[in-house]
Amino acid sequence: MSLHIQTPLLTSLPLGLAAGATVLLKLDAMQPPGSFKIRGIGYACEEHARNGKQRFISSSGGNAGIAVAYAARQLGLPAVVVVPQTTTQRARDLIAMEGAEVIVHGATWQEANGMALSLVGETDAFIHPFDDPLLWTGHATIIDEVVAAGEQPDAVVLSVGGGGLLCGVHEGLRRNGLGHVPVIAVETEGAASFAQSVKAGRRIELDAIRSVATSLGAKQVSEQAFKLAQTADIRPVTVTDRAAITACKRFLDDHRVLVEPACGASLAPVYDRASALDGFRKILVVVCGGVGVTLEQLEHYLAAS
Ligand SMILES: *Cc1c(COP(=O)(O)O)cnc(C)c1O
Repeated sequence: MSLHIQTPLLTSLPLGLAAGATVLLKLDAMQPPGSFKIRGIGYACEEHARNGKQRFISSSGGNAGIAVAYAARQLGLPAVVVVPQTTTQRARDLIAMEGAEVIVHGATWQEANGMALSLVGETDAFIHPFDDPLLWTGHATIIDEVVAAGEQPDAVVLSVGGGGLLCGVHEGLRRNGLGHVPVIAVETEGAASFAQSVKAGRRIELDAIRSVATSLGAKQVSEQAFKLAQTADIRPVTVTDRAAITACKRFLDDHRVLVEPACGASLAPVYDRASALDGFRKILVVVCGGVGVTLEQLEHYLAAS
């Protein structure tokens, strides 16, 4: 059993026309908890449950926290999600709706995370939002499904926050004999911890996140994601917030699916025919999704950008 669903794989005419290539969309926005995160988190939670863990603990007020709450409910186990005061009421409500206990603690994520870690007992599993090999193995199923559908992209476009999706997709490429396929790793300029690390040749830490793409807001990417950039063909690309937001709007009109700016970031280079995509004939875009956006909020972002 797996806790994620097999998502649609569409050929997008609008994005294909924009990019001048065949564009395949892996629509992980359709996952029941709203993003790809359930693939890895579901896999990790199942594994922990099999090993006798009786409760899941998370400190993510975003899509990871929602995925943990969803996984716990599916497995019939309790979950606790500790979030900082900055987490929106909507996010708190979504996590609570999945039946998890929401504890609000501290002004920053660091404080919430500290409290979450202090709760972890022997029979609990702490679920990290991106830095965990179990997550990568689960995220890798994105590529398994693409290959099972008979498709072999010559480039993959995805968003990078802490780099869990990147590590997982690359694991999926490798385990399907596609480890040589270039990955276009997209961030917004104000959350570009991966691009800046690759440029600097060391894993840098941002002093702050300055982007509406909050799901990309890891100040530092995982060691594994950074290492991958040294050995595999991973090409960092940054886009403006405005480009990411505009891409969300175009995607909503083209495909009738509302996604977070964190996901719009990956759509932006395709819509804008970025030079990073030159020469590729079949481009797979991981439409990572995200529940942290409403139409009203998107319109507000558009007006302000
Ligand atoms: C978590 C998330 C990301 C970034 O994933 P990482 O594994 O942290 O790199 C991108 N988009 C959405 C919608 C997310 O929820």
